[in-house]
Formats: sequence, C-alpha cells, structure tokens
Amino acid sequence: MSAKLYKNLIGGQWVPSRTGKTFLNINPADHSDIVGEFQSSAAEDVSDAVDAAREAFKTWRLVPAPKRAEILYRTGELLLQRKEQYAQEMTREMGKVLKETRGDVQEAVDTAFYMAGEGRRLFGQTTPSELPNKFAMSVRLPVGVIGMIAPWNFPMAIPSWKLFPALVCGNTCVIKPAEDTPLSTYNLVQTLMDAGLPPGVVNIVTGFGPDAGAPLVSHRDVRAVSFTGSSEVGRIIGQTAAANFKPCSLEMGGKNAMIVLEDANLDLALEGALWGAFGTTGQRCTATSRIIVHKSVAEKFIAKLVERASALKVGNGLDESVEMGPQVNQQQIETSMRYCEIAQHEGAKLVCGGSVLEDGTFDQGTFFEPTVFAGVKPEMRIAREEVFGPVVSVLECDSFEHAIEIANSIDYGLSTALYSRDVNRAFQAMRDLEAGITYINAPTIGAEVHLPFGGVKHTGNGHREGGTGALDFYTTWKSVYVDYSDR
Ligand code: NAD
Repeated sequence: MSAKLYKNLIGGQWVPSRTGKTFLNINPADHSDIVGEFQSSAAEDVSDAVDAAREAFKTWRLVPAPKRAEILYRTGELLLQRKEQYAQEMTREMGKVLKETRGDVQEAVDTAFYMAGEGRRLFGQTTPSELPNKFAMSVRLPVGVIGMIAPWNFPMAIPSWKLFPALVCGNTCVIKPAEDTPLSTYNLVQTLMDAGLPPGVVNIVTGFGPDAGAPLVSHRDVRAVSFTGSSEVGRIIGQTAAANFKPCSLEMGGKNAMIVLEDANLDLALEGALWGAFGTTGQRCTATSRIIVHKSVAEKFIAKLVERASALKVGNGLDESVEMGPQVNQQQIETSMRYCEIAQHEGAKLVCGGSVLEDGTFDQGTFFEPTVFAGVKPEMRIAREEVFGPVVSVLECDSFEHAIEIANSIDYGLSTALYSRDVNRAFQAMRDLEAGITYINAPTIGAEVHLPFGGVKHTGNGHREGGTGALDFYTTWKSVYVDYSDR
C-alpha cells in the first residue's frame, strides 16, 4: 500500500516542494508501517512560506486579540474531539505509548484554552507621567513573522506551546516540524484551520534541518525564531540569529537529576524514577537521567530499581499493555549503545539492560532495553552528557549539600527533583538547584501549561514557554505618551 502524500502548507494551499523531493515517515515500532510521505523542502519553499506569512500579518495583526483567541478556543474543542485519532497517529509516527500520546494531545488542548484566555488579558501598563497633562502607558504589539523549529519528542505539545501564544499575540508563523514527526504538526495546524484560522497565518514547511530549518532562521523577514531541540543545533541557530540581531528562544537539552535522601519515601521515589527515566523511552528533555541517592539507602534503592526496570513491558506503543515504546530511530539507538560502551569503559557498573532488542517481536523496530548504571561518578561522561534514551545513572552522595553540588556540576539546567520528608531541605533545594524547574517528591517530568517552562545554562537562553512568560517572546513592548494639555 502506498503512503499518503502530504504537502507543504503555504498561504492556505497544500503545495509540493519546489525541490520535487520527498521523504518517508516510518513507524519506529514497525518498519513495515509507512505513516506518510512528506515534502523534503529547501530555501525556496521557506521563502514562499515567509512571503505568505508576511502578507497574512497585514490583516491578522489587526484582528482583535479576543477574536483571535476564539479560534484558539475552538481549536481546543476540536482537538479534544480528535484526541484519540491524533494520539494513535502520534504513537505510529514516533513510538511513545498511547497513554503518553493522549497526554501530548491533551497538553495542546490545555495550551489552547490557557492561551485563549490571554486574548482578553495581554496586559500592558499605565503609569503616572512625570509631566502634567501627560498620560503614559505601555502596550504589547506583535513581532511579525515567527520562524519555529520543533523536535520530535512532543510533536503536538511543543508546536502548540509555540503557535498558540504567537497567534493570540497577533503574529504569523512558519513552522518546520522535526523530520521524524511531521504528521502531528499537520494534525495540529489542520485543526487550527478547521477552527477558522485564515490562510497564511500558519504555514508548514517540512524537511531536514540544514535544508529547511537553516534558511528559516536566516531569512531576513523572519523577525524572531523559536527553537526547541538539542544544544548542539541550538548553538548554531543562536549564532545565526545573533548575527542578524534577531530575537531567538532556545529550549534545549537536559541531564536531569533526581535526589533521593535518606529520609525519602523510597517507594514513592522508585515510582518517580521509573516514570522519569523510562517514560517516553527516556526521550524527554526533562527525563530523569541522574539519580543521586544517599549512600545509606543506595543499595536497597538500586536493587528495587533494577527489579522494576527489567520487568517493564517493552513493545509497540499501540498495545495498551506496553509500558515503554521504541526509540524514535536508528540514530537514537546508536547513541544509547555508544553511551553504554562509554559508561562501561569509564568504570560504571551496568546493572540492568544495556542492549538493543532485536529478536522476535522486536525485529521490525528500534527497541532498546531499560538500562541502569550504578557506581557512576560525577565526572564520567554518562553523568554529564545527554543520552536521550532509556539509560539512567545512579550516583551516591554523602549528604544533602553533596547531592546539590553533584546536581549543579553539569552544563545543563532544565529539571530537578528532590525526594525528602524534610521541609527545610525542600525549600533549600528549590533555592539552590541550578535549573528552570524543581519538583519536590515528584519526578523531573510533568510540567503544567500555565507555569513557565525552560532552563538555565546550556539548556536555554533565558526565554520561557508556557505561562505568561511565553507572551514576552511573542510581543514587543511599545511605550506611548499622550500629551493632553492642548497648549
Ligand atoms: P535536534 O536539535 O536534532 O533537531 C531539532 C530541530 O532542529 C529539528 O526540526 C531539526 O530538523 C532542526 N535542525 C537540525 N539542524 C538544524 C540546522 N542546522 N538549522 C536549523 N534547524 C535545524 O533535536 P531532536 O533530536 O529533534 O530533539 C531532541 C533534543 O531536543 C534533545 O536534546 C532534547 O533535550 C531537546 N528538547 C528540549 C526541550 C526543551 O523544552 N528544553 C523539549 C524537547 C526536546
């Protein structure tokens, strides 16, 4: 059976790439399942899309924000109706289990409703003027055409974090989805259009990073760039944007620490560790990848973790009983494999997993065993570099202060967690952990849409998605002075 052909969306029309090239989107749990055929676009397609977005901006920016918000609200309602279909398609295109893909669609629903509310706020400020008969205020105005580049691990939630605040603020958009997950972005944008979004306000150009992503970043009519992905690519994008004085939001990798102190509820911490490390097959920016355990409880904790991790049911995420799906592609498998070799070479002890699953039911996909390393030292690469697979390291600490020191000793700073019954330590951790997010007695994952999301150090460049923080990126402030003295 031939795959369904998807085209770029430019100015409200579905059009083929001018390159004439396409690529296939394949189910990572079952390589015989071709999810779709997508356009392999290049600079000329990006240019057409930016032109369409620039044209649409002339009218979209003048639509009152509460009216723009109504379209978001309808989008949220339609997404809810389509949730099961979109979740199934997302599981087919990137592998995570249905429970999680339903959550991904729900995150887009929540973002739609939350950002729809912002259409009636978008607050500016009024202030007293220092002069008589003068009125002083500040207003938020849209930025213009926004270029958006997304990763594959939250293929509907992350585009919604970008598109919905941008749209409610009056911007128009060109989005390049990740090459592994274009379908979920199509589903999201199709829903926006069904909800009444005018042509050209959102445009989709699919393709590979250097061919379709890079020209979007450097295009002179793209006024700001929102990127989520690896720190490696973020560095390139940040440099290009900086050279063009272009605002750029970079949300990048993580190496997230969970601290388990001697007074922790170990059963609770264990549940958190399993879900944090192996949810989405460890392919989350917020995945728990370092567990820093107090030495007095380490042995017991590791034994329980190994027992539970090795019993996880791995398989095709469309099967409701499966707990962990495949890795998204062969390249991610090779990264997991490489880090397992590095860790063992550095002297870490492999206590669970560590291999590709290839036999029997696994032979049609890219599956890796849930993997645990013990005896990991803070200076080892396995403790410092992002794997982005189902591989977790356990490090031991002597004290709370030691745990914080280890947690902060790396370049990344996205999410962190502390398991302890001591409320003073909870507040100290909240203050001292160098990260954009800290959870107390909960795993490193599970962000809610109304709070700022993002990280510090090599994880982010200071912007935030989610919450009202997102509006700061998608608007530009204008200060207005009105002199009413009528001299
Ligand atoms: P990636 O950096 O390989 O790709 C991300 C996007 O950038 C893709 O759309 C890709 O096509 C594009 N791209 C690649 N090279 C480019 C270039 N030269 N110019 C322009 N665009 C280019 O990342 P990925 O593998 O898709 O996603 C995994 C990474 O994303 C992990 O590091 C993860 O931690 C990170 N991530 C971060 C967050 C966050 O909010 N902090 C959320 C999810 C994922």
